[in-house]
Amino acid sequence: MTKSETTIERPPVVVVMGHIDHGKSTLLDYIRKSNVVDKEAGGITQHISAYEVIHKDEHGKDKKITFLDTPGHEAFSKMRERGAKVADIAILVVSAEDGVKPQTLEAWKTIVESKIPFIVAINKIDKDGANVEKTKMDLAENEIYLENYGGTVPFALISAKIGTGVDELLSLVTVLAELENFQADPTLPASGFVIEARMDSKRGIMATLIIKNGSLRKGMTVAVEDSTCSTRMIESFTGKAVEGATVSSPIRLVGFDKLPAIGGEFESFLKKEEALAYVENWKSKKVSPKDKKSDENSTKKIIPIVLKADVAGSLEAIEKEIDKIESEGAEFKIVQKGAGPITEGDIKQIGSAEGAIVIGFNVSADANARDLALHREIEISSFDVIYKMTDWLKEEMEKRRPRIETTEILGRAKILKAFSKTKEKQILGGKVYEGKIILDGTVKIMRRDFEIGKGKVVNLEKQKSKVREVEDGAEFGMMIESKLEIVPGDTIEGFAVVQK
Ligand code: GDP
Repeated sequence: MTKSETTIERPPVVVVMGHIDHGKSTLLDYIRKSNVVDKEAGGITQHISAYEVIHKDEHGKDKKITFLDTPGHEAFSKMRERGAKVADIAILVVSAEDGVKPQTLEAWKTIVESKIPFIVAINKIDKDGANVEKTKMDLAENEIYLENYGGTVPFALISAKIGTGVDELLSLVTVLAELENFQADPTLPASGFVIEARMDSKRGIMATLIIKNGSLRKGMTVAVEDSTCSTRMIESFTGKAVEGATVSSPIRLVGFDKLPAIGGEFESFLKKEEALAYVENWKSKKVSPKDKKSDENSTKKIIPIVLKADVAGSLEAIEKEIDKIESEGAEFKIVQKGAGPITEGDIKQIGSAEGAIVIGFNVSADANARDLALHREIEISSFDVIYKMTDWLKEEMEKRRPRIETTEILGRAKILKAFSKTKEKQILGGKVYEGKIILDGTVKIMRRDFEIGKGKVVNLEKQKSKVREVEDGAEFGMMIESKLEIVPGDTIEGFAVVQK
């Protein structure tokens, strides 16, 4: 991510991979026991699939590292299939006893494909059968070139069992993380990935999440694809209830309404409605990913929108909602969008467009923007709930879309008798056979299914008394104002012009 005032250095998330029995679990256990600060948790009773450790770097500064405690690359591959960029750094464990094995290469391939930097940990150096040089050669033969061995891959010689070299390995992790310069913005609502999810018979659906950006606080709602969870309780990886969590921390949430997908991306929202809107969007996106507007004719009236929101996440959710608002004659077009307050520049984007809409979601307009908007008679509207905003936009669309005039047939009658005719008026007798004929109504005069002209009903009588309308089946007398001569056999069609 790009650097801004609120971005900070983010602790790396590390995955440990390698061939079976080469010591992945032993290494993860050793690090957990020796580096988890909360000693109570170091002995970890019910550990979840990730943990955080503190490592003192070469300057004696405490550095956090998050480990995915799911050895083996299956879980990792599963996440990768979903495009989940959970880990930032990989440690490839290779036994100095066995050297490179098939799964070493598989793991390496996965790491390379994921485009994440990695460190090789040559393990089991305490063993009699360990042969570090042979292992290095083995690696080089398989195109894994270590530092000072024809390549640039950093490595550490370790014994996961007794802890030799583990501290150096952790130092390599922090140095690499610094080089990679992982950044995050803790002021944003948390987003990240699900690394574990299961149904607990007592507690319900629980999942472990890794926050890759932003922060999560109690009371927010988390959404993963189509499942949501209110964060009434957030647990740290040690199982302790916490008020909140921020970047790179693994957390556990209980109470999802559906089992979230492993590797699924999560977003969090201050308001539940926003999370629900996000879910709806996810669903609609899944069903019809095609851009519905691109294939429609472009003769529609375009209503420009300037949209500003507090965070990029809501921006995206709102955009999708706006996209869904349709009308026959008009469509919204977002001409300017972004995170942050509404500025003068945003208002300028509208140019001279008529009927433009400026909305701020959880943000307001600065003074310059307000002045310019006032001057140009552009209204600025603010919202903090997505569905209220979309409801309002629907009303605005209704007000702004072009009116379409249509005629509605009110009734039809057959002319049976023609009595007298002056220049513009004619007295006739007829019978209604559909709907009704009304006084003062305009009628089309039809001869053999063709319209020959129009007239206006200026007098209407039924059984010799004046009426305002005659219904289906009734015979009537009428006076029509028209230049045409209407004859028996003609049909009159009463109609009204309606605006839709
Ligand atoms: P994994 O399948 O990669 O997770 O391997 P494990 O961590 O389960 O280790 C396999 C076996 O190797 C276990 O019996 C460990 O005790 C042993 N082991 C792992 N690391 C070392 C080490 O550094 N030195 C020695 N002597 N044994 C080790």
